[in-house]
Amino acid sequence: MSTLLEMSGVSVSFDGFRAINNLSFQIGEPELRAIIGPNGAGKTTFMDIITGKTKPDEGRILYGDKGISLLGLSESRIAREGIGRKFQKPTVFEAQSVRENLAMALKNPRGPFDVLLYRKTRAGAARIEEIAARIGLSEALTRPAGELSHGQKQWLEIGMLLAQEPRLLLVDEPAAGMTPAEREKTTEMLVDLGRDHAVIVVEHDMEFVRRLNCKVTVLNEGSVLAEGSIDHVTGDPQVIEVYLGR
Ligand code: ADP
Repeated sequence: MSTLLEMSGVSVSFDGFRAINNLSFQIGEPELRAIIGPNGAGKTTFMDIITGKTKPDEGRILYGDKGISLLGLSESRIAREGIGRKFQKPTVFEAQSVRENLAMALKNPRGPFDVLLYRKTRAGAARIEEIAARIGLSEALTRPAGELSHGQKQWLEIGMLLAQEPRLLLVDEPAAGMTPAEREKTTEMLVDLGRDHAVIVVEHDMEFVRRLNCKVTVLNEGSVLAEGSIDHVTGDPQVIEVYLGR
């Protein structure tokens, strides 16, 4: 596992309030990582910094094999470099089929040309099938996305992210609002994606995080409070105090 993204000494203030405070963080490729922390810990701001939505006041962020700095890059350029984000609320095209939704998101591996044609090539069609299999929607390819369950819509959106061929995926509360069976499938899906991508999952549900069975980073007051296995971090007295002591 090599390092894909390395953040060091990153700080961000909003009107003098330090939402992110001298934060250092690394993720490898491949790796699945869970980020937890109480409300206001800085989790959303952390993801906004990685995707370029929020620019830090201090620090550095290096990404990829050549260690390019993300600080000077626009959000769209960062996305093109292979960083994809899935927000909590699914935003699929309800009237279009699952296949069409995936086709619309598909990136042509040969560059930004002929993407409309690429969808129709054998390679493009095969890529759509491959993604559908990974998100458990092979049987639903012809169904309108509007007919899918909440959980299936979330998976479709993960599929649309995968169609962009990301290296790093940021996933915000993937299990929120899901049935127990959907949560179980989501766990398996994230573990599977973590085998060949860097995946950062922000999640409140500790039981869900436990099942991901991965390294956990605990944020508090804009800094890393603890890092390690779920058993390690949940046994850390500082983490217990932050979660229970208020
Ligand atoms: P989390 O996602 O862990 O709940 P956030 O990253 O949303 O935490 O917020 C961290 C802190 O920064 C909070 O105290 C929040 O109120 C503050 N904050 C976040 N975004 C802004 C903003 N745009 N303007 C002012 N304060 C903000």
